[in-house]
Amino acid sequence: MHDNFLTLAPTQLLEILTFSHEATVIFISSELHIGFINTSMLNIWGKKNDIVSHRLIDVAPEFENFIPILQEVWSTGKPFKAKDTPANTMDGGVLVQKYFNFEYRPIIDKEGKTYAIINTATDVSDRRQALLDKELSERHLNDELLAINEEQEAAIEELRATNEELFETRSNLNKANTQLLESEIRVREILEQAPLGMCMLVGPEHIIEIANESILKIWGRSKNEVIGKAHHQARPELIGQPVYKWLDEVYTTGRARKNHEFKVMLYNHGSLREAYVNSIYQPIRNAEGGVNGVLVIIEEVTDDVKKRMEAQRTQDMLNLAIEAGGFGTFYYNAVHNRFTGNDILKSWFGLEDGNEISLNLATDVICDADREKVINAINTALTYGSGGDYDIEYSICAPGTESLRMVRAKGKAIFDSDKKPISLNGTLQDITELKQDEQRKNDFIGMVSHELKTPLTSLKAYLQLLQIKAVKDPFTVVALGKANTQVKKMTAMIDGFLNLSRLESGKIYLDLERFDMMELIEEVVNEFSVTSASNQILFNRVNPISVHADRSKIGQVATNLISNAIKYSGDGENIEISCLVKENSVVVSIKDYGIGIKPEDLERLFERFYRVDTSDMKTISGFGIGLYLSAEIIQRHNGKIWVESIYGEGSTFYFSLSI
Ligand code: ADP
Repeated sequence: MHDNFLTLAPTQLLEILTFSHEATVIFISSELHIGFINTSMLNIWGKKNDIVSHRLIDVAPEFENFIPILQEVWSTGKPFKAKDTPANTMDGGVLVQKYFNFEYRPIIDKEGKTYAIINTATDVSDRRQALLDKELSERHLNDELLAINEEQEAAIEELRATNEELFETRSNLNKANTQLLESEIRVREILEQAPLGMCMLVGPEHIIEIANESILKIWGRSKNEVIGKAHHQARPELIGQPVYKWLDEVYTTGRARKNHEFKVMLYNHGSLREAYVNSIYQPIRNAEGGVNGVLVIIEEVTDDVKKRMEAQRTQDMLNLAIEAGGFGTFYYNAVHNRFTGNDILKSWFGLEDGNEISLNLATDVICDADREKVINAINTALTYGSGGDYDIEYSICAPGTESLRMVRAKGKAIFDSDKKPISLNGTLQDITELKQDEQRKNDFIGMVSHELKTPLTSLKAYLQLLQIKAVKDPFTVVALGKANTQVKKMTAMIDGFLNLSRLESGKIYLDLERFDMMELIEEVVNEFSVTSASNQILFNRVNPISVHADRSKIGQVATNLISNAIKYSGDGENIEISCLVKENSVVVSIKDYGIGIKPEDLERLFERFYRVDTSDMKTISGFGIGLYLSAEIIQRHNGKIWVESIYGEGSTFYFSLSI
């Protein structure tokens, strides 16, 4: 090697080095004078050949960093190698960083001293760049891959989540579906069992999808006849009625419709029947809000409407009758103390239209003489247990009117479950005219009776004269006796009528005196004993009982009751009379064992002209005024008169007067 080296001339060697591709520079002093530099190295450094024999620091100060290393190599004699080392080199007048692999190899002489350093260098910038680019692109790729990976992972995660969600959604959907199905079944069941008629019509043809039993009953149709059919086909009976039109309207406008007590002709076993219904036509909307059907709900109210119409008709007729009869009607709300009535009543009471007044204001209109009596009667009717009946005659003197109006009020009180009065309603009849007629009649009866009495008195006197003169002829005596009895009866009758007319016109006056009741009863009994031999009258006169009363009128009452007892008893039946004191009153009783009185007649016996209407009565004469007069007389004495009787067994009449 050494030998080979020596065969080459130094110039030759330098030439080779000059053209060598390996960039080379040789430093020949410790101060790093450049001894040689080839073209390749000059190219790297960006310098010209004139730098030879100059110090490195002077011609290439940009390499100052490397100088200490070179000096170290020079002084130590140890080579230095480095790879991919950055160095700033001149390129076109500017400094550019490039990368190099380089070596500093010291050349050592025999004494071991350094006399040159060969510095070779390879520009690895491009390779490095390529490497870097590769690395970069690799890193990019890696990053991208990583990103893709991450994305993928995320996507997978999402997918998993989505899957889970999907699963959940599906199970929810399943649940919802089941619920939907259940709720649909439930809705159908509800519809089916609803007491109201219900049907569901679908589409513009109103196809009947559901129709429950109640609606089928109202329609008069069976399920088979209607389900799945268009409404107008299933129910042709509605032609000419407004239902089809209404259904179309609800379907097209989406507006619900309500009908109240609408009259409709419904199918009924082959014919039509009149019915009244309340109905609702409700549009059914889909999710988008469009109408796709109509729900129909029907309640049949035929019975109610007909009953109400009937009640209304009855009420109208009643009102008509009340109006035609000139009756006033009154309504008294006892809870709120409000009194009102129909127009007639309002006019009589001087009430404005729609006026309701309290009861005391209403009673103000009643004449002073009658007011207390009316208030008492109202209070009695409003007392539970009284039967609630109200029946009274009185006069009213409405404000602004001069004339008196006599009325008869008849009403009935109603009570709640707590026995408290709720109302007292009834009618009012104007009896002014009637009373005047009665007055005229009474006057007439009075006058006739009075006129009849005069001839009868003379007839009686003549009969008595004849009786005295005819003592020798027994037949004439008996006949005159009988004639006398008849005249007495007639006198009694005429007296009765006279008393009646006096009583009714209020002209009956009590002539009060103190007398012994025992004595009076005995007198009356004695009179009867003479005239009626067919019945025995039993009376025990004991201690006197003094009373203050009209002796003659009480005598009339006793006569009346005893004569009835005889009249309504068979021959031979006893009449028992008693007179005794009971709790500050004298009670007189007349007991017979005659035909008796039925319970339904007992109450009405003391009414004017009342006579029991039975076959036994046909043969017994009378006018039905005796008991009426007796009762009036006793009542005017503030006494009491009553009767106890068992039909077919006999009766006991009582009257009592306070002592
Ligand atoms: P009359 O003139 O009809 O007797 P009264 O007013 O005296 O009229 O009696 C009314 C009715 O009461 C009689 O028609 C009779 O039906 C009935 N009546 C009265 N007293 C008796 C009696 N003692 N027994 C049965 N019925 C009687």
